[in-house]
Amino acid sequence: MFTDVVPENISIDDVTDFFQNDVQVSVLRLDKIHALISGNKWFKLRYYIIEALAQNKKTIITFGGAWSNHIIATAAACKLYGLNAIGIIRGEEPATPSATLLQAKAMGMQLVFIKREDYRHQSIPDNITISDAYMIHEGGYGVTGAKGAATIYDYMDESFTHICCAVGTGTMMAGLINASAAHQQVVGISVMKNNFSLQQAIQSLTGKEKNNWHLLHDHHFGGYAKHTPELTGFMNSFYRSTGIPTDFVYTAKLFYAVKALAGKNYFSAGSRLLLIHSGGLQGNSSLAKGTLMF
Ligand SMILES: *Cc1c(COP(=O)(O)O)cnc(C)c1O
Repeated sequence: MFTDVVPENISIDDVTDFFQNDVQVSVLRLDKIHALISGNKWFKLRYYIIEALAQNKKTIITFGGAWSNHIIATAAACKLYGLNAIGIIRGEEPATPSATLLQAKAMGMQLVFIKREDYRHQSIPDNITISDAYMIHEGGYGVTGAKGAATIYDYMDESFTHICCAVGTGTMMAGLINASAAHQQVVGISVMKNNFSLQQAIQSLTGKEKNNWHLLHDHHFGGYAKHTPELTGFMNSFYRSTGIPTDFVYTAKLFYAVKALAGKNYFSAGSRLLLIHSGGLQGNSSLAKGTLMF
């Protein structure tokens, strides 16, 4: 189940030269999995889909914003498995829908726009029947999502001293923490401003006994989906040097942060870092044309 898109083309690329410090740096290329069920979204969704099918559910309902990688990945996964998909979208229906929403709709997802206030409470409009539906939290957050994310570890090994990832809901990071060996450090870069509740959100998926992880809050570039010319310039120079595309919402902030941290000797000499390229290039299409060279 969920095997016809089982990723075979995931590679680990060496990008040590770009980082120019006393550390070895590699990138786990989850972005190469699938154009739409990209990166960590495939892993986070896998057990939800299996569970929904096992429970004979016909419909999946989930939540997201207008540029959500999770929304488009869920739409694509549902299409693949013959499930109906309903996306509850944060905010009023925009006059011009985002590329993400158009694509999700083209794959058959029903889009329901709700007020930000209602969205915060994840309340479902009355006209949606949920009795035969399987619900997935925003971003795939939850134990089942983390269990799927833990299988990202199958593509690496214990020789890496640090596993570094971008953090939205914390589900991927929780999975990586659960799968990691005790001698490995998992370093998460929060892409939101002052989202301190993440510490608890991750801990509730990992348990207190796991303490080989650090969540860093100073690399958000102004907040969720905010960006600066410095960040987009970095994305171009990273691409020029490595051929690896990044997105300004998640992975660019991760790679930028790791370079800054390495420059400050945050990692001891000889460390072997594995950066998770969690995919999701959706947001980039919201940038002005010409901003990025890829
Ligand atoms: C969704 C997403 C994340 C965040 O994953 P969480 O499990 O919600 O923390 C990170 N990177 C990319 C590219 C994403 O699309």
